[in-house]
Amino acid sequence: MGFFTRFVLINLVIFQCFSLLCFAQDFDFFYFVQSWPGSYCDTGRSCCHPQSGKPSADFKIHGLWPNYNDGTYPSNCDSSNPFDRTKISDLMGSMQKNWPSLACPSSDSTKFWAHEWNKHGTCAESVLDQHGYFETTLNLKNQANILQALRTAGINPDGSYYSLNKIKSAIEQGIKLSPGITCNVDESGNSQLYEIYLCVDSSASNFIDCPIFPDENCASSVEFPEF
Ligand code: AMP
Repeated sequence: MGFFTRFVLINLVIFQCFSLLCFAQDFDFFYFVQSWPGSYCDTGRSCCHPQSGKPSADFKIHGLWPNYNDGTYPSNCDSSNPFDRTKISDLMGSMQKNWPSLACPSSDSTKFWAHEWNKHGTCAESVLDQHGYFETTLNLKNQANILQALRTAGINPDGSYYSLNKIKSAIEQGIKLSPGITCNVDESGNSQLYEIYLCVDSSASNFIDCPIFPDENCASSVEFPEF
């Protein structure tokens, strides 16, 4: 093999290595999703308070989800690294307060956390290990107080109806980010505030403007139920 051919081949191998290993982009950004427990519980499907007791009336964490800019997302990326509760024992107090399971039967929330780690967290292993995934998500919750932003604008979880645009503006005013909002329906079929989506960069360091929002399925005026 001549010198030139060898030179080209070596460069090709180096380039392949960089593009495959060094710049491998396994997702584009995270959705950080909080949900209103009152809207999880009043749908007709039953909900159960966790064994640690009734959670406080505040938005709770649903998850931190790696996502692509086109709205699709990877899932269940590494079955060889399943959820291990002992890896987050130091976070337990904050996990129970901020990320409780409301599914029935009443539980210690392990199943919910395992679902979130196994489905979503394993797709961000290049950025966050299991402890980092949960710790980072808890920190994001501290930085984005949705309920306070809403209360400041006179929007309270009191069972009354609020304009969706006013809810959005209140969050934009309070936390300087444009939220994605999804709704579900209560037992009588009324549209109600359910989940708030904020976006975080792919290194899980900073909130960013969302590259794409989830499909909005809310009425123009939505119920904000009590919890
Ligand atoms: P995901 O697959 O991450 O989109 O989450 C959806 C799953 O999480 C469904 O099985 C839901 O029933 C469950 N889920 C959502 N919110 C809660 C909650 N507050 N407590 C327990 N499970 C929940």
